[in-house]
Amino acid sequence: MKETIIEMEKYAKEHNVPIIEKDSIKFIMKYIKLNNVKKILELGTAIGYSGILMVSASEGVELTTIERDEKRYMEALKNVKKCGLEKQIEIVFQDALDVNLVGRTYDLIFIDAAKGQYIKFFEKFSHYLSPGGVIITDNINFHGLVGNRSEDMSKNLNSLVSKIEDYIEFLKTNQEFTTKFYEIGDGLSVSYKKDEK
Ligand code: SAH
Ligand code: MG
Repeated sequence: MKETIIEMEKYAKEHNVPIIEKDSIKFIMKYIKLNNVKKILELGTAIGYSGILMVSASEGVELTTIERDEKRYMEALKNVKKCGLEKQIEIVFQDALDVNLVGRTYDLIFIDAAKGQYIKFFEKFSHYLSPGGVIITDNINFHGLVGNRSEDMSKNLNSLVSKIEDYIEFLKTNQEFTTKFYEIGDGLSVSYKKDEK
């Protein structure tokens, strides 16, 4: 398992796969342990790196993770197998916005897929939270570019940064959720559903 993790880090570097930063995954693993998280949904599997680590955070954790890129999906399948976690990790090869999870609930939803679609993901998947569940979102600082743009940024990059800024505003003004922002790794947010009265 430890060896596979190191191999994955190397693969990610060589193939430009944007896996989670060490401090961020440590924070999430601690959260899973302390809050007795059992069921996790992840949007954006990539090669399975964050998924495998989340499942290893404590006993009896089950993960459903969604990936739309076939090459990465195949790579993730291979890595999950290598770690012997096929029973705990279900990988769905589909666009997250097309996936139907009716009837399921999750203690933790980890949003880490296309940065331009964060609001859509939040709106679609927040319905699947179990009571007391949270949504954690990665790359809230987007490589330090959020709130810190440079003149020579491409149009595409500019638009992505705008979308993350919109997402942050969406979280801050959300009536149903309270969100805390953390300067960890590439920036993380943790959103809790407000108590229903
Ligand atoms: N969570 C991973 C990294 C994910 S990178 C880790 O930290 O190890 C983001 C991934 O999301 C990419 O592999 C990309 O193909 C996938 N993705 C982006 N938009 C998606 C969508 N709408 N549905 C499913 N997967 C998506
Ligand atoms: Mg990420």
